[in-house]
Amino acid sequence: MFYSSSIEISRSALAHNIRFIKAQLKSGTRFSSVVKGNAYGHGIEEFGQLAYTCGVDHFSVFSADEAYRLHQVLPHKATILIMGYIDDEELIWAIANNIEFYVFSIDRLEQAAKAARSLQKPARIHLDLETGMNRIGLEANEVEYAADLILKQSDAFEVMGVSTHFAGAESNENHDRVAGQLDRYRLAVRSLQQKGLKFRTLHTACSAAVMAYPETHLDMVRVGIMQYGFWPSPEIYQRYMGVSTDRIDPLKRVINWKSRVMSLKLVPAGEFIGYGKSFQASSEMLIAAIPVGYAWGYSRSLSNQGQVLVRSHRAPVVGIVNMNVLMVDVTGIPDVALQDEVVLLGKQGNEHITVASFSELSTQLNYELLTRLPMNIPRIIVD
Ligand SMILES: *Cc1c(COP(=O)(O)O)cnc(C)c1O
Repeated sequence: MFYSSSIEISRSALAHNIRFIKAQLKSGTRFSSVVKGNAYGHGIEEFGQLAYTCGVDHFSVFSADEAYRLHQVLPHKATILIMGYIDDEELIWAIANNIEFYVFSIDRLEQAAKAARSLQKPARIHLDLETGMNRIGLEANEVEYAADLILKQSDAFEVMGVSTHFAGAESNENHDRVAGQLDRYRLAVRSLQQKGLKFRTLHTACSAAVMAYPETHLDMVRVGIMQYGFWPSPEIYQRYMGVSTDRIDPLKRVINWKSRVMSLKLVPAGEFIGYGKSFQASSEMLIAAIPVGYAWGYSRSLSNQGQVLVRSHRAPVVGIVNMNVLMVDVTGIPDVALQDEVVLLGKQGNEHITVASFSELSTQLNYELLTRLPMNIPRIIVD
């Protein structure tokens, strides 16, 4: 074993989540799997291939490096869409390889035209519209200019879609803002159509919008967090559970993060454990060291806070989480032995360590915790 922990991703859990999400959509609405942030920490290559075997054929990433990694492992009939940054050199690669990308500024549009002409191949673009998030996207006063530019150079472009992104669909507090964004989006789409621009796919919805705003589904939805088995916010979860008949969470966590007991020590009462004096043994304690620390994505803020599973029991983290090691108290757990499996995140026996519990203790958002899982932990596909 050349690694100190591993991340399992579950085929059956993913298939289940995708089925649930697709059941929220009307027939014909396309499902795009959002796999930015190393597939929210699940491993872009492993997760992408797994999702493909679950029937997903459209993937959305943030940047060209992510598109590149996915392109290496997916059959080329799968569509890859870059929703974020793309530089001039990457435009050439993207166009040559049928990678679709967002155009979020006039500058990107002009550079894409240049790249397309040099390749004599149209760029497959999505016009990303600024509708009120005020992050990236073509401003209302740029949209007509963009349309003219595209119409004048029609062999340089294939307009695959028109998109926007909502500023906080996961919270009802933002309802007005989302509604305003959808209005501005519709208006811009109409003006593009009136100009005579042809495009295929209208898409706006992320996970939260899929659940809270069915009117935003349109031709395609871009789903990230929910396919991994997490709710975009407690509010969206409660809203769903309020109307569900069986009161069972319909999503299943795909990820399980595991390590092993590397060392066991009896520590006498009164001794401090680990660096500094943050934890003192009040009685004799059996302490297990686990070869995972903040360099491996286990937040230092879980010092004296986190829990792991050993022999299907919860074991609390004691002392400060180190760079590569953390210590847990296994005093009351029978038969703990070296090499025992340790679950940092996920299930063992009937016990679970949820990302939510993790996030609350470390004040990280579930999105943040997942995407911080380092790339060099191996991802293993299990059923
Ligand atoms: C991340 C992202 C999504 C997916 O968001 P989730 O909340 O994870 O479903 C959709 N669209 C864009 C533009 C994004 O950046």
